[in-house]
Amino acid sequence: MIRKFLHRVFKKALPSRAEGHDPHIIPLKQHGIRPEHISPCALKVTEGLRHAGFKAFVVGGAVRDLLIGREPKDFDVATDAEPEQVRQLFRRSRIIGRRFRIVHVMCGSETIEVSTFRAMQASSDDDDHSTDQESGRILRDNVFGSQAEDAMRRDFTVNALYYEPHKMEIWDYCHGVADLKAGLLRVIGDPARRYREDPVRMLRAVRLSAKLGLNLDAASRKPIHTLAERLQGVPPARILVEMEKLLLSGHAVQSIEQLRKENLHHGLLPLLDVILEHPQGERFVMLALRRTDERVAQGKPVLPAYLFAALGWHEVLGAWKIFQDGGERPLPALNLAMDQVLDAQRETLAVPRRYDVIIKEIWNLQPRFAQRGGQRPYRLLENPRFRAGFDFLLMRCESGEIDAELGDWWTEFQNASDEERKVMLLPDDGPKKRRRRRKPKGPGGDAGSTQDSAS
Ligand code: ATP
Ligand code: MG
Repeated sequence: MIRKFLHRVFKKALPSRAEGHDPHIIPLKQHGIRPEHISPCALKVTEGLRHAGFKAFVVGGAVRDLLIGREPKDFDVATDAEPEQVRQLFRRSRIIGRRFRIVHVMCGSETIEVSTFRAMQASSDDDDHSTDQESGRILRDNVFGSQAEDAMRRDFTVNALYYEPHKMEIWDYCHGVADLKAGLLRVIGDPARRYREDPVRMLRAVRLSAKLGLNLDAASRKPIHTLAERLQGVPPARILVEMEKLLLSGHAVQSIEQLRKENLHHGLLPLLDVILEHPQGERFVMLALRRTDERVAQGKPVLPAYLFAALGWHEVLGAWKIFQDGGERPLPALNLAMDQVLDAQRETLAVPRRYDVIIKEIWNLQPRFAQRGGQRPYRLLENPRFRAGFDFLLMRCESGEIDAELGDWWTEFQNASDEERKVMLLPDDGPKKRRRRRKPKGPGGDAGSTQDSAS
């Protein structure tokens, strides 16, 4: 359907031009994107800049998404105004980043990222200090440039599209619209060189082709096999940004399959290795990814910590058993196992520390689902994380890790009346709370403590 739409809109595509020269300017009647499709905040920013005499375009993913009939997640603006000039135009704005210096403009809860047109830095073939001579990786990327240069430094042709809301034109520098129409994701320039400059682009190639349903064109696919290991040299924090998008934007299952096909999964992130290389955990994790994709498709919120909890669960199970075999009681053993798994991940920065609390809460609830007597099930229902813990439990049942009966019991218990619940309760065989021994009053009152220390 999307293809059909694009075909209708762009059937009058102009003859091809050399990449990076003048843009092919597409008028409203061919693309149909109106200012109403742009967020009010992005419009405020482009209008503000235009009134002040600057060029201002919505750029990148948002234009691409609108062209294929998707709702953009966020809007980025590109301009010829320098960061300080942008900063002065908008009251609620701040300059961020040392390397890239972009401006965040805030309206209500929305933030628009405004970047100044930048030129591509010389790469390894040139004698320049902006790239690492051995790897070809870009180390600096902060030289302002023309709009055409800004287009050329972007990763894929479909990401180098600029929408000017006032004239309602799309400026297409690299045949992005034609590629979109042909269902192709194509790297701008020489793919091997662009991957060497920034290996994250390989990950983006996989993620965006899965997300947008585009085929990675043959030339852009070819060098990935040989360059895949260069992802090891990328700071983990950058990988994590892409991985979070990959896992949480509704196309996780497809993206993971694609990563496997491109041989990009080895040693990428410890948590990815867990997904793809531990057979017993794989089923569980793929189920978690499918559930996440379904939730995104239904417009429901997804909790990154929930997914990270799923990625680490089978490691926790393994460590939990080892601590219990070593003589620890079940609950302290679980706590030791959780810390061990989280600490191991942290060494490579794979799981951000801010998620620890929720991850642990979800893991910690799991043994509590097994206790179905006395007041315990009622207390568990009141737990603020009950929902996440219960969903997690159901996945454990579905993946075959535990008996489905436990999940069924909890499903029924939640929906049962007070009377029915009483009947459902099992004999209270959970760990008993230790009773504090009262000190006997009066003389000789330390007899109890003697007993305690003797036991
Ligand atoms: P998504 O919709 O999933 O956010 P996106 O293409 O908008 O995808 P962003 O990370 O938001 O991805 O990046 C915004 C734009 O910045 C891209 O469309 C692209 O033009 C440019 N860009 C991002 N990362 C790179 C990169 N590694 N190399 C070159 N250009 C990039
Ligand atoms: Mg984006």
